[in-house]
Formats: sequence, structure tokens, C-alpha cells
Amino acid sequence: MCAGSQHATPSAGSPTCTRVRVVFETRLNHTYDYCVPPALAALVRPGTRVVAPLGKSERVGYVVECDPPKLPGVQYRPILRMLDTDAAITPEMMALAQFVARYYYCSLGAALRCCMPAPVRKRSETAVMAHVVKLARPREEVLAHVQAIRSRAPRMAELLRLLATHPHDEPIRLSALVARAQTSVATVRTLERQGWLTVSLEKQRPRSEEGWIPVGAPALTPAQQHAVQTILAARDTFRVFLLQGVTGSGKTEVYLRVIGDALQRGRGAIVLVPEIALTPQTVERFRARFGERVAVLHSSLTDHERLQQWWSIRDGHARIVVGARSALFAPVQRPGVIVVDEEHERTYKQADEVPRYHARDLAVMRGRLHGCPVILGSATPSLESLYNVWRKKYQLLELPERVAGGTLPSIRLVDMREEVRVAPQLAIISRPLREALKECLGRREQAVLFLNRRGYCPVLACPTCYYVHHCPQCAVSLSYHASQQLICHVCGHTEPYAPPYHCPECRRTLALVGFGTQRVEKHLATLFPHARIARMDRDTTQRRGSHERILSAFGAGHIDILLGTQMIAKGLDFPNVTVVGVLNADIALHAPDFRATEYTWQLITQVAGRAGRSDKPGIVIVQSAEPSHPAITAAISGRWREFARTELEARRTLAYPPFSHLINLIIKGRDEHRVITAAQELVLELGYVRERLSPTVHGCVQVLGPAPASLPLAHGFHRWQVTLKSSAVCASLDHLVTPALRAKSYRGVEIIVDVDP
Ligand code: ADP
Ligand code: ZN
Repeated sequence: MCAGSQHATPSAGSPTCTRVRVVFETRLNHTYDYCVPPALAALVRPGTRVVAPLGKSERVGYVVECDPPKLPGVQYRPILRMLDTDAAITPEMMALAQFVARYYYCSLGAALRCCMPAPVRKRSETAVMAHVVKLARPREEVLAHVQAIRSRAPRMAELLRLLATHPHDEPIRLSALVARAQTSVATVRTLERQGWLTVSLEKQRPRSEEGWIPVGAPALTPAQQHAVQTILAARDTFRVFLLQGVTGSGKTEVYLRVIGDALQRGRGAIVLVPEIALTPQTVERFRARFGERVAVLHSSLTDHERLQQWWSIRDGHARIVVGARSALFAPVQRPGVIVVDEEHERTYKQADEVPRYHARDLAVMRGRLHGCPVILGSATPSLESLYNVWRKKYQLLELPERVAGGTLPSIRLVDMREEVRVAPQLAIISRPLREALKECLGRREQAVLFLNRRGYCPVLACPTCYYVHHCPQCAVSLSYHASQQLICHVCGHTEPYAPPYHCPECRRTLALVGFGTQRVEKHLATLFPHARIARMDRDTTQRRGSHERILSAFGAGHIDILLGTQMIAKGLDFPNVTVVGVLNADIALHAPDFRATEYTWQLITQVAGRAGRSDKPGIVIVQSAEPSHPAITAAISGRWREFARTELEARRTLAYPPFSHLINLIIKGRDEHRVITAAQELVLELGYVRERLSPTVHGCVQVLGPAPASLPLAHGFHRWQVTLKSSAVCASLDHLVTPALRAKSYRGVEIIVDVDP
């Protein structure tokens, strides 16, 4: 399989390389030096994948340096072969991986893993190659020959006829041709010898999906025009733009124009969208404009599709990549623009896998490496990005109005404390929301209800002493699901629901408390027995394609009320939606996270944006038990500047990001005592090391903790944390974290370093 080097031809005058430094995909930051056999000397370069001996086995590694200094008296072992014909990792991607390794504190091997998705890593380039057959003589001549040999050699004639009538621009695979002509490869070889056709080994490109219709670009609105012109004035230079505009204000059209310009100049583009927004609707718009030059990277691709897409991008065949977080590492050559849509989205941070990178921040880094503009788009920008606008690092471009007219919805806030006082059953669907839904159904329009909590009831608790029935492995309550099960939403632990449960303190019977989407669904069915109601949450979208099925049923008008979790908060664009309800605006407000207020503001604003997307007026009803909280009032009034300013002031006072960087050190282990001891030891070590630092480094970092992590028990692991507040991440990691981690063995625990959590 790995015979890549045999198709490679050394380009004239390419420098030769006699020794290479290689990294393997290990957690340790180790490099290994090898010598290069003469046959490969002109081919290997930094970024080439090679197979090399490591100990007693053979491993795939990446060349990171050519001709490293030769050490006297060292016998170098030779690399065995190259895996691909060309360097799989381009110089820019190598630079990006090096940055990731340093900044996000992981090995270079782990960072390079991001640049090569698993299916690409596991196979060589030849896995996407196939033998392709082409005519070697003019079609007319071939067809005449077909007539001539028809009776004497019918199979051979049929094969040639198929080949001669095949559309010219599509390659035909040897295996497919042989199967269709019901003959063998020997026939093909004979015809090849006779000079009728040629057989060559070529890369297979992803099949372009059927069904996209080319669509021209609309004339831009003045605001769009201004945005496009400003960005294009900076083409070929690194510059970051924050494109602020509500959903429907025409941001995507701005991206499309700038990408179109990049394509015309022979450059590519990367577009990141949250996984949730990677709907057929989004993809369709890019396909309709750019056709098969668009590669879409989403989680439901098969391994082979992913492999084809990757090589298609690497070879410059597909030049635009649309995908979720990891698409930032797609090997797009010479990108002319990088877009991060919904840049405030949390899913851009890879939270529970190494490297723990933030794709938005890396997009900016990649733009710098390639020298191209970066567009961050959002209706509710992150405070980090707004802060960068205010200190003139980023340029703000605003799209203040919706393109399709479509007035912004009117928003009404319902005080749930009052509803509960009147009647507890109103705590789910308040009177104003009920009224609005009734009218909406009467007008045959559609409604979207949002509740960021799946299951039936989130808590099983003691009514008197507030004891909560927890997951045995995690510090969270088990949720009751309609399947008569208790399920942990952190680790998935499931147990049958077997009431009665008793409080271990007071022996009272535990009761189910609160509501999740399942309970709301049932409640809606009793309130509106004739309405067609659908629920979209993780439980109803397990199967491949179910997400799309629900959305297209909704789009086709087969559903009246769509109820869902954050899956429905964005990307949806349905003109018939005139009522949007936010059932519990407060859920995220008290999360132990300094961004809780910001997230709540973003979420409510985003959900509200689902209403009134056409000429029909929309109404948004926000239910909250804390209606005067600034996050909620800001979302309702739309006054984001004031909100951002106040919130940033609060962050500045506490020296939270963006006024510092946080580095979380999570100490995790099965044994709680060991975890606490290790956390204390780590803080002591950090203290010792910090005392000995030079005043400049010393002054830029502060050590806080140890304290139990925000989720002190998860998957059966106890977790404590030490937090560093730093104004210089790399210096803090190099001079403080590394020495402190090396100073001790911290037995029985794992220590995770999470930068910019
Ligand atoms: P956003 O990305 O901000 O949500 P879109 O770019 O998707 O906004 O635009 C919203 C709708 O308006 C889309 O249906 C789009 O096709 C349409 N649209 C965008 N720009 C224009 C324009 N200049 N003229 C007409 N229609 C437009
Ligand atoms: Zn659990």
C-alpha cells in the first residue's frame, strides 16, 4: 500500500537531504534523527510522512527538519520509505502545528495529528488512487474499429464502445469498465498493447453530489458593499474583520463575495461554521455558488469520503473548505480568506481532547501565517473579539439591517416568579406564551420553542432537605427520561427508574423536579391536542440523518411547533416561524463559568433571531425568573454595546479574559485523597518556581487555587484545579508550568493543561 515513492519524480534541482529529524505521534515531545537512503534524498522535505524504525517496530512519522546537526560517532538508522508522493504537511501547516504544540501545551506529534484526520493518517495517498482508462485515439476511429471487430471479438468491441461513448471529462475506472463490459483486465491490456487506450494510476476525486443548482449573486446592499470593499482592499494582507450583523443581515453573502474574489485570483478559502450549523441549507449555498470546488467536512462522512476530500484539498482540486472546528486544519493551499461564522460559539474550543485548541484563535493565527484576511462573523460577538475591536486590533464592519426587510421581532419578557405565584403549572408555558402559540396555530404559522435541557425531569430530589440523587460516577444529578430510566448527562450512566427513592437523611420520598424537553413535549400535547409537535434534541437525533429529517419536515410545514435544545438555536431560516419561546432563559446564568453572563446574552439573542425572518411580524417570548439580569435585559433591548462595555469592565476588575489568559491545570484521578495531595503539591511547586523567576515573568503570572474543579467528579475521576492568570502564555508555560510539572512525579493523578479554557 505504501509504495508512494515509486510515482514520485524528483523535481529538477531540488535540494537533497541526507539526514532528517522525525517526530512520531506520541505524547512525548521527542525527536529522532535518521539518515536518508540516496534514492529518497531529493524527495524528502519537512512535512513528508515517512516510515522509520523505532525500537523494534516501524512507525509513521513526520519529517520536521532536514539535515539537523550531525553528532560525532552516532550511527544513524535509515528511514525505510516515504508514505506519500508529496509532503503531506505544507510549511505553513508545519508552522501552525508548531504554534499549537507550544501554545496549547502538547507534543508536536499530537499537534500534527490535527493536520491529518484519522482516515488520512491510517492510509497512504495511494488509497485514493485507482487505475483509470482513457482513449488513445480519436473517437471516430475507435468507433469504426468497434464496427470492424464486432463479430470477431464482441467483448473487446463492447469495452471499446463503452469507453468511446463515455463523457469525456469523467475518468472511467478500470474496475468499473471491466465489470460493465463483462470481460477481464486481460482484454484491456490487449487493447492497451494495440494502442487503442491507455491505463494510468490517478487520484479519485470526491463525487460531486447531485442536485445543486448554480445561483448567481444578488446585488449587494450598501452595507454589504461597504463590508466587501473594505475586506477586499486588504486582500493579500493579514487583517482581522469582525462582521457584526443579526441573522439574516447578509453576512454569508459577504463571505461568498470575498471567497469568489479569492478564487478568481487562484487562491482558496476556509469557512468554519459550528457543527450544528453545518446543515444542508448552509452547504447548499456554497455549492450553489462554487460547485464542486467546495469540499465539505462534516462528521457524517465515511472514512473513504474523508480521505478523498482531504487529498482533493491538498492537491488544490477543491479550493474551498466548509467545515466545523477541525476544518481549520484542512490543507487548503494559499487561502485568500479565512471565515469563522458564529465566531462566539463555544464549540470552536476543543475542550476534552488534546490539543485543547480554540479554532477561532487559530484561524487568526493561520491568517497571519498565510498573510490573508480573516473574517469573524456574528450577531453576538465574543467579548474577546469586541475588546480587540476597541483596542484597534480588529476592524468592525456592521450590517445593521436584515436584507429581506423582515422587521426584527418584538420581544416580550415574562417574569416566571409571577407565573408560579399564580399557578405552578404555568411554570413551563406561561400565559403569554400559551396565548401567542394559540394565535400562531390559528394563523397556520409555525413556532419554535427552546429549552436547553433534554430528558423529562432533570432532578430527583428530597422535598425537605434538598438531597439530590447523583450519578455514582459524576457530581451531577441523574435526569429522569420518559424511557423510565435515570440517565447521567455527563457520562451516560443509565439505571432503571425504580421508585420509591428515599432521602438518606430524612427518609422522605424523593420527587422528580423541574422539566426537560420530553416533559414540555407532553405538556404541549395536552395544551394543543391538534398541533403537530416535534422535539429535536440529542435523544431524537441519534441516528444519521435524523437532524435533517426533522428540519426538512419543519421546512415543508409538516410540523407546527418545533421544540428543541441549542440544536435549534441557530442556522435555521424558516419564513413561516412567527413565534419563538425561550422557556428557561436562566439555565446557563449560574453556571460556574466567568462567561455565564455572556453566554446567556448570546443564546437568547440567537434564539430570538429565529422569529420574523420574512414579511410576517414575529414575536419572541422570553421566560425568566430573573428578568432584570443584565444579560437578559441586554438581549431583549438589543443594546449589545452597553452590555459588552459593562461586562468588559467587570472582567477588567477581576483580571479575567480578555484582560488575561487563563491556564487551567486540572488534576484528575480515581483516588480523591491523592488528587487533593497532588493539587497541593503542584501549587507549592508553582510557588517555588515562581519565586525564582525573573521579575518580568514573575509579574505576568498569578497562581490561584487549588480548588475543586467546576465538575469535581466526572466519569469516576475526582478533579481539582489550579488556575494561572497570565499575560504571557508561552512564557508562563515554559518557565513556570513545565518546571513545576517536572519537579515531582504526582503519583496516581493525571495533570491536564488547558490554555484559554
Ligand atoms: P446571514 O448570514 O447574516 O444570516 P445571509 O447572507 O444568509 O445572512 O442573508 C439572508 C438572506 O438574504 C438569504 O436568504 C440571502 O440569500 C439573502 N440575501 C443576502 N444578501 C442579499 C442581497 N444583497 N440581495 C438580496 N438577497 C440577499
Ligand atoms: Zn455520570
